Amino acid sequence: MSKIVGIDLGTTHSLVAMVDSGIPLVVADGEGRRLTPSVVHFPGLDQPTWVGVPANHVRALHPATTIYSIKRFMGRRCEELGEKDRQVDYPLNSQGLVKVPVHGREYLPEEISAEVLAKLRRDVSESLGEPVTRAVITVPAYFNDAQRSATKRAGELAGFQVERILNEPTAAALAYGLDKLGETARVAVYDLGGGTFDLSILELKQGVFQVIATHGDTRLGGDDLDQRLVDYLWGIICHEWARQNPGKPQLEIHPGLRARLREAAEQAKIKLSSDTGVDLALPFLVPGFSFQHHLTRDVLEQLTHDLIARTRPLCLQALADARLQTSDLDQVILVGGQTRMPLVRRFVADLFQCVEFSETRGNLRLGHDPHKSGGPALNVSQNPDEAVALGAAIQAEILAGGLNNLLLLDVTPLSLGLETFGGLMNVLIPRNSTIPVKAGELFTTAVDQQKSMLVHVLQGERERARDNWSLGRFTIEFAPAARGLARVGVQFEIDANGILHVLARDIQTGRQTTVDMRSAVDVDDGAVQQMVEESVENAFTDLAIRRWVESRLKAEATLAATREGLAACTDLDGEYRRQVQAAAKEVEEALATETEDRGNGDLPRLKASISSLDEITRPLADRLMDQAMEAMLKQRGII
Ligand code: AMP
Repeated sequence: MSKIVGIDLGTTHSLVAMVDSGIPLVVADGEGRRLTPSVVHFPGLDQPTWVGVPANHVRALHPATTIYSIKRFMGRRCEELGEKDRQVDYPLNSQGLVKVPVHGREYLPEEISAEVLAKLRRDVSESLGEPVTRAVITVPAYFNDAQRSATKRAGELAGFQVERILNEPTAAALAYGLDKLGETARVAVYDLGGGTFDLSILELKQGVFQVIATHGDTRLGGDDLDQRLVDYLWGIICHEWARQNPGKPQLEIHPGLRARLREAAEQAKIKLSSDTGVDLALPFLVPGFSFQHHLTRDVLEQLTHDLIARTRPLCLQALADARLQTSDLDQVILVGGQTRMPLVRRFVADLFQCVEFSETRGNLRLGHDPHKSGGPALNVSQNPDEAVALGAAIQAEILAGGLNNLLLLDVTPLSLGLETFGGLMNVLIPRNSTIPVKAGELFTTAVDQQKSMLVHVLQGERERARDNWSLGRFTIEFAPAARGLARVGVQFEIDANGILHVLARDIQTGRQTTVDMRSAVDVDDGAVQQMVEESVENAFTDLAIRRWVESRLKAEATLAATREGLAACTDLDGEYRRQVQAAAKEVEEALATETEDRGNGDLPRLKASISSLDEITRPLADRLMDQAMEAMLKQRGII
């Protein structure tokens, strides 16, 4: 059996690791480099790509053909991208799935990621002296189905059999050796990398991991800090240029210049993690103009502190979801290159009220202190950017049977459900459910002689179907039958990779349709964080919408039954018929107060009118029931 390796496919860097004689190690490439920049350069049509460091070197020179941060676009559609997302130095297409046009060909993000993965595969095969074909690949906990599927495809394109798609924070906790704690412990994993942020809360019980809550932002990371610095420096550069060149036209930024500035900004940012000041020099930035500037850590912190502060509500939300307070946590671990920044460490220590925190201590501290009082301990690693890859290698070894006393349990980041009558979301698998998971529900038809049912699969936290993301839709057909008779069972199954499989079965005939959401790359996945925030922000409105829509459905059903009753009982007392009609009219009028978006109206009036109509039609309903009984008894020859 071939070795299984662990891969951290990062936004800025990727790493491959494996367990060798029981020890997880990051594998270096032929030149001894452990971190491979996730950058691919296409020198020309049908020419071999350059991957990693050489590609990174020509990024400023060939911005349009050197692709970086591709992870941001995995499994995403152009329509979902904000202006900020599109801020890359290479072009993107404008419709459908995000693609990158290079030398007249359009590449999917997974095809570009596959180039990075293929390089890692070559490196590790060379290092081992045998071909490596199996891998565990990590993704941010917030990646949705389409993003996970795209990652898996990238692995397959690179020639790997992808054994598991693993959440990054879970991998990190494994790397920090937290499974060795052996007793009940709760850990927060704060992961700020190049392009994504995740906060996950894990619970450990006798060496078993369970992710009990997770929150994140797929669009927040070190790249954003770099961008802030670029904007700031560009402002100074323009000012300086104007001062030195009075009367000349303003400087214009172009992709090559931006790429060069970004590189300088990132290097300055990294340096400011260990130094309090840095001298920036950009000779011959434009012909005849060089730029020098002294940048301090204080300025960097002022420019970026609000970006770091954006992680606060996400951390608090995860704690609230887990029903925990900071004092319930035993440890907070830091993952991702950006957590080396002193501001980030101070921020996390402060937010989680960590009791043990020293900015100078850079060593990895394992184990937890049973005598601690107050808040959790902050656990920092010298190489926070290696933790995920090392954890993936440990998971790979577990799968290969090398380490067997550990079980991994992950959770769903967002609720999954179906659209039901009235355009509401019916949740089948709630957010933060442990995966793998299966859940099902039976649905009946709403209309007589209905022949098919639309299964519309949704992901999100909002009450109204249209406010959630549509993962896909398909139709199941069945033999026409009276309303409520045809029944369709729908089952959702999320496998260990977090990929959703939907099955719909006609109960009568057993005929079933299975849709593997892996192929449904046409997924509307906006920002997960935004979704959760919106659901919190709109909680009251959403509740009002649900109440209104449910009341409307009830009103419509009661009105339909009333009309049927009035038509069936032709001999009703005239005065009673008028009373029923008046009550029905009042329901119709209350329904007419519905707002244009069909999400609200005069709810108290509608409810009062339904209950009056219910009340007044009770004798009518009794009569209909008697008539039905009589007909049935006659039919059976009893009377
Ligand atoms: P990762 O995705 O974990 O590889 O993290 C990459 C991000 O971490 C990039 O934005 C880097 O600029 C940033 N980074 C790496 N090292 C440092 C450092 N020493 N100080 C601040 N940021 C860093």
